[in-house]
Amino acid sequence: MGARRGPAFFPAWTHTVGAMKAARDEKPDHFGVRVSCDTCREGRDVDLDAIITKKGADFSLVNRRARCKLTRGCRGWNRFFYQGGVMRPLWTQEQVEKWMRADTARRSAEKLGREKVVPLLHGRDFRLDPPPRGIDQLLWAVCTDEERRELIRRRPR
Ligand SMILES: [Zn+2]
Repeated sequence: MGARRGPAFFPAWTHTVGAMKAARDEKPDHFGVRVSCDTCREGRDVDLDAIITKKGADFSLVNRRARCKLTRGCRGWNRFFYQGGVMRPLWTQEQVEKWMRADTARRSAEKLGREKVVPLLHGRDFRLDPPPRGIDQLLWAVCTDEERRELIRRRPR
């Protein structure tokens, strides 16, 4: 085994969706491509034709992930696998480290966002009377009378 770095580690037929489709059409039992979620654990065969139509035959699934499209509302990541005897991950250890750094950065941005918002809401009444049409329920619930008047003034018509 050579160094497990970069897309060159993967077999040539996995480098683009066009090459994947050609290999799979020739031997459907040996060149499968799957997608599965790291959170809800759903999985399915990848619709290569749909991806080729949308992104072109040169598009690559190597080291790629996308927000979960397998379960509505799931916040997990969908990642790709290719068949090489068994199903194997189509991403490198290097890429996992990049994803982890991106996830950490996103989490700290979210935390910072929450820390800024919570003091703003602190000590506020939470009023559950229904908002006028076109105004967000949660926003209406936390606004003071003065802010509610402003909301109504600015409301989209
Ligand atoms: Zn999911």
